Amino acid sequence: MTKAADWHEVDRDHHSAFQRVFNAHPGVSDVAADCPVCSHATLHRFYLVEMERPKVILGETYKGPGRLWQWCSTCKSFGYYPDGWVPEWWTSPYEVDKESLRYDPGPIEEARSNAAGK
Ligand SMILES: [Zn+2]
Repeated sequence: MTKAADWHEVDRDHHSAFQRVFNAHPGVSDVAADCPVCSHATLHRFYLVEMERPKVILGETYKGPGRLWQWCSTCKSFGYYPDGWVPEWWTSPYEVDKESLRYDPGPIEEARSNAAGK
């Protein structure tokens, strides 16, 4: 059980490096790259589809509007992007109770690590 207090938004110094790593690894929920903050390869992303409303933006197909969390399980750095579009490739690799979702990815990480059997 992770406490909300453990989570912190990725700091200004690491923000662009953090974003670059995720941008360089599209199409996956578990990113096979080292965290720019702590150097552990424990980066993950999770999209929540708010509404199924397929749309093509600049040649990319999206499922609809939704939210995105990007985080590191080790150092608990994260980014939260509440006003985005969920890409077509996304399928949720584990179930997360929508009611449990909040600003930090704590409930998502819990679901992920439970599904991973750790
Ligand atoms: Zn980290």
